[in-house]
Amino acid sequence: MDKKVLCNKLNYMENSLERMLMEVQMVKKAMRQRLNEEVDLTLENQKLKKRLLELENLLDDEKLEASNKKIEAKTGLEFLYKDGFHICHTFYGNRFLNDEECLLCLEMLDR
Ligand SMILES: [Zn+2]
Repeated sequence: MDKKVLCNKLNYMENSLERMLMEVQMVKKAMRQRLNEEVDLTLENQKLKKRLLELENLLDDEKLEASNKKIEAKTGLEFLYKDGFHICHTFYGNRFLNDEECLLCLEMLDR
């Protein structure tokens, strides 16, 4: 090969390497962005999972509270019934006459 051809060949190779270097840098930059996005998403995911857990616990607490209130209300009704008062919606608060039984009241107690 003469010197001119060699020189041209070297210039071509140099240009190719520069182009490749630029491409490598671009891919590296894109890769870094993807990694950052992944870290952000992981953190966001952790935060959301934590929040979900908090909300689920809150919901459980509320359910427990509601169920306790229901038990308290039922106990109150049972006392009223044993004292001889209607606890059904139809005759609520009225006294039982003699030893009558009210199916509506019994239904309330069964709940
Ligand atoms: Zn009744």
